[in-house]
Amino acid sequence: MRQSHRISTLNGDAKDDGWGLFNLARARIAQGAKIIELTQGEHDIGTDARILEAMHASAMRGVTGYSPVPGLPKLREAVAKRLSERTGVATTPDHVQITPGGQAGLFAAHNATCDPGDRALYIDPYYATYPGTLRAVGAVPVAVEARSRHGFQPRAEAIAEKAEGAKSLLVNTPNNPTGAVYGIETLEGIARVTQDHDLWLISDEVYDTQVWEGEHISPRALPDMAERTLVVGSMSKSHAMTGSRLGWVVGPPEVIQNLTFLANATTYGVAGFVQVAGLHALSLGVDLEEEIAAPFRRRRAIVLRLVEGQNVVRAIPAQGAMYTMLDIRATGLSGEAFGRELLDREAIAVMPGESFGHAAAGHIRLALTTDDARLEDAVARLLALAGRLADRNS
Ligand code: PMP
Repeated sequence: MRQSHRISTLNGDAKDDGWGLFNLARARIAQGAKIIELTQGEHDIGTDARILEAMHASAMRGVTGYSPVPGLPKLREAVAKRLSERTGVATTPDHVQITPGGQAGLFAAHNATCDPGDRALYIDPYYATYPGTLRAVGAVPVAVEARSRHGFQPRAEAIAEKAEGAKSLLVNTPNNPTGAVYGIETLEGIARVTQDHDLWLISDEVYDTQVWEGEHISPRALPDMAERTLVVGSMSKSHAMTGSRLGWVVGPPEVIQNLTFLANATTYGVAGFVQVAGLHALSLGVDLEEEIAAPFRRRRAIVLRLVEGQNVVRAIPAQGAMYTMLDIRATGLSGEAFGRELLDREAIAVMPGESFGHAAAGHIRLALTTDDARLEDAVARLLALAGRLADRNS
């Protein structure tokens, strides 16, 4: 039977979904190989016991039935309060839809804004699911490149060049994979282009608690932006709750109303006991968020210190998020080829920059999700390999 064109072309013309090297590493691990994995954006700790206890207690109390589709009123209120306090934009529960994770929020936000065939812009390098998410709603993904030499901050002119007739722009700060945190000038440029071209702005802020340099600024807080911005948030990264699937979309109430209709037709809401756990997690305040973010700050410093000691590999100083991007072009290899050498020779798995688009070619992304000592050992060996490859080249 023929499947829909939309679903059979979800990965576009990519030869794989960007996870080829990751899958190879996992296959070798399954056969008993010892590999240091610096691939997935997944904490090396589980969800805090206090959050799990709240989840368990609520399920035992009977919160096991259907829950209100836009989300538990108290959780919507807590998310609204969080955004009001952190961004200064007055946000009420009717601006908030609770979703099963940020990913479902991205899908919902594009569904709310794009019709089939609409051009939907996104910034390259990008989080690997983006083009597939846009295609899943029938939109046509259009990449706008942000350059390594600009610290991967997108330029307004580059966005404007592709904006004619487009419907939406998807941005992500702090950024996966690059670690860039968009500065105010970048964000003002983005705001100007979306206003000039009447675009919806979809702002993926799932790493908002992981900022090492500068500050996280939500573009929704810029003048006249709240009406055209949909913020996607999540508890996955801030609270190490990736498996709970809990996130949100924040935007104008009339959009949230339509997202409720969409959720009726798709997810039918989020497990009530997971939402109660999320509410408890938010009530634990910034101390827990800082505790969860702290290892990434520390490990980023380890990587930067090691990179400073040589001159083949260049680090794009990650300002936020749980990743560091390394420019390995001096080895003469692509990110994919270097990643393969690293896996074969040193049993270290990383993500090739090419998995995240054209603009990240010749780079690799390290997820800082392994304990400090193993990370230090892995990066030292990675740099030594890069040195040998560069020597062979010269
Ligand atoms: N956006 C970005 C940039 C991400 O890196 C991720 C997860 N890696 C997500 C969204 C989705 O996260 P989740 O669905 O777990 O909230």
